[in-house]
Amino acid sequence: MTERLYTRDAYRRQCPATVQAHTERGVILDATVFYPVGGGQPGDTGRLHWDGGSAEVVDTVADTEGRIVHVLAEGATAPEPGTEVNAEIDFDRRHRLMRMHTCLHLLSAVLPYPVTGGQVSDGSGRLDFDLPDSPDKTEVEAELNRLIGEDHPVGERWITDAELDAQPELVKTLSVQPPRGAGRIRLLEIPGVDLQPCGGTHVKQTSEIGPVRVRKIEKKGRMNRRVKLEFADG
Ligand SMILES: [Zn+2]
Repeated sequence: MTERLYTRDAYRRQCPATVQAHTERGVILDATVFYPVGGGQPGDTGRLHWDGGSAEVVDTVADTEGRIVHVLAEGATAPEPGTEVNAEIDFDRRHRLMRMHTCLHLLSAVLPYPVTGGQVSDGSGRLDFDLPDSPDKTEVEAELNRLIGEDHPVGERWITDAELDAQPELVKTLSVQPPRGAGRIRLLEIPGVDLQPCGGTHVKQTSEIGPVRVRKIEKKGRMNRRVKLEFADG
């Protein structure tokens, strides 16, 4: 398994690592700061640098063995196994993803209904709710910006699989089941606001999200409402 450094520190931009293997899709390192696509958050982009070369990473995915695959740009030369590299993410993009991802946690608190889907994108994000009536766009936006402005700390708590089984109400997102098998599950905690299993990357304080806008609330079927957000500062 690749050591996932972003789990301990989402702000870490780069790390030294050793190439372990190549797969059809890309390069596997012993440790990485690159987040692999999952839980509605896109995979990181960035670069691998080594003595005498560098390669652009255009996507990051996890394989079935828990290894993280750095997908290189078409035509890029991959560093050989055993090569010492420096792995560096495009942090400006990652930080926008962290801000929007954290904001979707606030949205799930503003609208405390079952979540049936969601996606974080660069500059925007959405959650789908199992909800028959459309919430008021202006009110949702005001509530979100209030929670952002209150500057709540964003932290984590770890529980066991058994503890999660005893508290099924913690799982709000019906479409994404929390990762199991490691024996422990990470909960994202914004005290007094949100608590749910999440393996993604988040900002440390809600004020770091910055002002947001509710772009649209769409009807997606009789019971489904899609709420789309974007950063108000573009
Ligand atoms: Zn999260």
